Amino acid sequence: MGLIVQKYGGTSVGDLNRIRNVAKRIIKTYDQGNDVVVVLSAMAGVTDNLIKMAQEISDLPIEREMDVLLATGEQTTVALMAMMLQSMGYKAQSLLGYQAEILTDNAATKARIQNIGAARIKDLIAQKHIVVVAGFQGSDHQGNITTLGRGGSDTTAVAVAAAIKADSCEIYTDVDGIYTTDPRICEKARKLSRISYDEMLEMASLGAKVLQIRSVSFAKKFNVPIHVRSSFNEEEGTMVLDENTGMERLEVSGITCDKNEARITLKRVPDQPGISSKIFCPIADAGIVVDMIIQNTRTGGDTDLTFTVTKSDFKAAVEIAERVGKEIGATEVLTAEDIAKISVIGVGMKNHSGVAAKMFSTLAQENINIRLISTSEIRISCVIEKKYAELAVRALHTAFGLDKKE
Ligand code: ASP
Ligand code: MG
Repeated sequence: MGLIVQKYGGTSVGDLNRIRNVAKRIIKTYDQGNDVVVVLSAMAGVTDNLIKMAQEISDLPIEREMDVLLATGEQTTVALMAMMLQSMGYKAQSLLGYQAEILTDNAATKARIQNIGAARIKDLIAQKHIVVVAGFQGSDHQGNITTLGRGGSDTTAVAVAAAIKADSCEIYTDVDGIYTTDPRICEKARKLSRISYDEMLEMASLGAKVLQIRSVSFAKKFNVPIHVRSSFNEEEGTMVLDENTGMERLEVSGITCDKNEARITLKRVPDQPGISSKIFCPIADAGIVVDMIIQNTRTGGDTDLTFTVTKSDFKAAVEIAERVGKEIGATEVLTAEDIAKISVIGVGMKNHSGVAAKMFSTLAQENINIRLISTSEIRISCVIEKKYAELAVRALHTAFGLDKKE
């Protein structure tokens, strides 16, 4: 018996039949003696369609109205779910974001949750209701409806779980957990039974699209264990939790491949104080996030400066690099879009030596040239040519002992 938050994503509530199946699943948990709070996404495709319609009216729709519009997707599913549960003979009530007292800042379309006054949710639980909360939405201090950014229902679920001190937060989705790598790239990818918050944050930022990244930061901050699992079967999924809760100590837990970056090199910039700030301040002012930065010093008093940005920022970043490059006397600006960033990720790296060496020698054995390297405490990333990305992922997956046992 416990207090359980269950979040169901868009595919899981994609039509009435699926809503009925999800309702049965909720009831099963409830009938086992648990209190259940359900958080729902909009039906699959609905949010996309709403955005499309708004964009047919204007390229830049007013964000306040955008939020009023987008919040309707979740309003639909929570009402239908509450009706479905009631029709099956259970006490259930839907709550929109503001009714669940989900207070956010006023950053429309990307609001952050500031507080959840969980009183109403708790009241309903005390009356043995199944509470069905609309994901992805809240309201700001003026009472405007806000939304939390794409995929934001995950964050609603974790935040609600933290606010009501739930025993567990289950995220039901159309995949059955977090994998060691993308199974479409590597058929030997295997489902992880556990992964730490920090590993998941690195995996998410590097392209695994299972959880909204902000929900993981939230879960880490409030130490809410998340169980990611499929809504289409009964199998256990993956627990995302604090690294100190009995994790298996693998050197490496996952391998990611990010083809969404491009590389820019300024050749022979003066090796002097202030040069980096001359380049990166205008880039930051343009709202461009830089990922890797590498500087090679030569003996002649100049250096090559290389950095990567996401492809969507590439054009703007090149323009800035060319303009600033001229000002500071760089000889040339080189660019490459056909790159891939391959990363090995694992908290176990903190205690195992030689992970980087193993990564480099594995790539060397496949004759893959490494263009850039960057590391964090639990991640090593190499930028390579894009055409070798899949080969690199598979080779590293085997080298680090992640292959599924046949
Ligand atoms: N419906 C929103 C979206 O599609 C929020 C969510 O599903 O988490 O992004
Ligand atoms: Mg989602």
